Amino acid sequence: MTVHESSPLAALPVLGETAHQTYPTATLYVVATPIGNVTDISLRALHVLTIVDAVACEDTRNTAQLMNRFGISKPLVAAHMHNERQAAEALVARLQAGERIALVSDAGTPAVSDPGARIVDAVRAAGLRVVPLPGASAAVAALSASGLVNDQFHFVGFLPSKAKQREGVLQGLRSVAATMVFYEAPHRIVECAQALADVFEPSRQVVYARELTKLFEEIHRCPLSEAVAWLKADAHREKGEFVVLLEGAPESADAGDAEAERVLRILLAELPVKQAATLAAQITGQKKNALYDLALQIKGE
Ligand code: SAM
Repeated sequence: MTVHESSPLAALPVLGETAHQTYPTATLYVVATPIGNVTDISLRALHVLTIVDAVACEDTRNTAQLMNRFGISKPLVAAHMHNERQAAEALVARLQAGERIALVSDAGTPAVSDPGARIVDAVRAAGLRVVPLPGASAAVAALSASGLVNDQFHFVGFLPSKAKQREGVLQGLRSVAATMVFYEAPHRIVECAQALADVFEPSRQVVYARELTKLFEEIHRCPLSEAVAWLKADAHREKGEFVVLLEGAPESADAGDAEAERVLRILLAELPVKQAATLAAQITGQKKNALYDLALQIKGE
């Protein structure tokens, strides 16, 4: 496929790589857009926005503004949470007629705490093709800069705004071992920090990723016990957009005990009781006396 000469990519040498791909008709392109810094849009996203027949968007004013920044003009179709089902029907009909349509939300990746999933579902149910164009998502950006070492994360998104419901959701998350990811509005950020502190261990690490990719970007990590005070210490800290990350549940004492016993048994096969208990305590962080007693028990088995 050749690239339209009005495409902002037309002057770029890297364009060749974009052009090697195919962009089939009768396809919905799910396009991630920036979460603040407009230059975070991908070259491929710009290319697709240039070649589609229409762009389905959460708010036509926001998307028009974004497209204007890149000199792209396309028919815009409103597809927001209040009309997603009807919009899906109309978009399916257009795709069946052989159009290419892009789906975008106001910021970040569509269908991640944003409208889009129902449209994608309807398009797939109609046997039509859906192609994702990956890009910014606040959750992933926050995780990547958090330094929380955990291969798993549990995306929660927005918590209920009513205190009782929110507490119910949080209680259900107490034993989740993965790092938890929340989106929160600025006017509820302190309330949310207090709600987390009421439910989870105060020693858990929490990360506030605020205004990512924007001028006043700030990423702060502290124990949960200090979160409310940190937010309140400066009025600016309660402003802007936030991702909140919460460290997963600490390993249960049972799991720690089982691991200590496993290590102790290995060492006991080679070493005297006292030495095995001392080394097992150093390796696992468990108490030496308890491990010594356990070692005697194991020897007596
Ligand atoms: N679809 C988007 C994504 O992929 O991240 C999320 C849309 S959701 C309606 C908006 C929420 O995402 C905000 O309330 C905030 O919690 C988070 N968010 C979006 N942009 C952000 C940014 N620049 N910095 C921090 N959080 C952001």
